[in-house]
Formats: sequence, structure tokens, C-alpha cells
Amino acid sequence: MTNKDKINLILDFVDSLFPDAKCELFYNRDYELAIAVMLSAQTTDKAVNLVTKPLFSTHNSLKSLDEMSLEEIEESIKSIGLYKNKANNIKGITHKLLTDFSGVLPSDKDLLQTLPGIGNKSAGVIRCEIFKIPDLPVDTHIIRITNRLGIAKSSDSPLDIELKLKRLIPKERWIKTHHQLIHFGRYFCTAKKPRCEACKLRDICKN
Ligand code: SF4
Repeated sequence: MTNKDKINLILDFVDSLFPDAKCELFYNRDYELAIAVMLSAQTTDKAVNLVTKPLFSTHNSLKSLDEMSLEEIEESIKSIGLYKNKANNIKGITHKLLTDFSGVLPSDKDLLQTLPGIGNKSAGVIRCEIFKIPDLPVDTHIIRITNRLGIAKSSDSPLDIELKLKRLIPKERWIKTHHQLIHFGRYFCTAKKPRCEACKLRDICKN
């Protein structure tokens, strides 16, 4: 079976399971999503939402967030991993947006990656979610799934996997597929207890 055949099976299955998959990070404003995406590194979206909901409602403008002291930010996000580093990144993001971008979140991928804590994957997520620019950022769930299903090799980097998926999937399906694969990894093909008995991809799975 070719990778194209495999991907078609995968897309059909995730489509049947999660037809309406979407971003689960809480935000009301575009820069809030950028901050939430940065905070979500090595942390669940659920844990991020628990800290961002009160933070964004108490500090509901870029300026208000920027005026917080580092200590205040640390205190408000201390329940998530790497919070000291991430607090620094929040300060860096708000400051850079206000000073270099007149308070406007850029849509350009390279410019987004000049924001502290925002790399290729995070920039892709922001572009998909805020600007609806087709992209297919690869997170830990997508790495695991594509390895299990033989689309990726263990030696592939996230960027290798992103490029492979982009070659196999029509551009107009990139954003939807990104969300559906993450849902598949989060709720079905989980790291520890995948639901293999109910999975229609068993025949192509190497797990
Ligand atoms: S068979 Fe199991 S491990 Fe393989 S894709 Fe399905 S749920 Fe995941």
C-alpha cells in the first residue's frame, strides 16, 4: 500500500471520528492565542486554559499584560511546566508586539518566529487559527500517530513529517487534518492506552 493510500484511509477515519475538530486553546484576541500556543509547549491545552482564562480576563489588553511584572506573570501561570521561562516569553511577546509591530500580530511566518517562544510549529498553529492560512503544524500527537501508521520514520524531524503530510494531503485539507490528527492522538490513539480494538486503521498500524 502506498503512503497516499494510507493517508486516504487515515483521513476518512479521522473525518468519521472528529468531523468538527478544532483548536481547544482558550482565547478571545489574536495575541492571546499566540501566548496560549507558546504556553502549550510540553503542557496540555487543558492546563493552559486553566491559567489563561483568569489571566486574560483580568488583563484584557496587550498593554495591560505588558504592564504586569515578571513576578505577577510567574504567579499567574505557575501551575504549568516551565513557567519561569514561559513568563519571560509572555513579557517578550507583549513587549515585541507593542514596540516592533504596533500591537498588531503579524501573519508572516518568519515574523511570527521572531516572537519569544514561537517556533515553526507554533507559527503554523497561529497562522491556521487566526489567519486561516493553510498549514499543517506537527505536534507530539501527530509525530506518534504518523510513526505508528508508517507514514513517518522514527528518524524524521517534525518538519520532515510536516513536509511529508503536505505532499500527501491537498492544501485545502491541511488545517482540518491538523486538528483531526491532534484529536485522534488526544482522544483515540493516545500514547498509553490507544483504542486499538475500535480502530479501523489496525491493518496498516505498526504499533
Ligand atoms: S491500531 Fe491502535 S495504535 Fe494503531 S492507529 Fe489505531 S488506535 Fe492507534
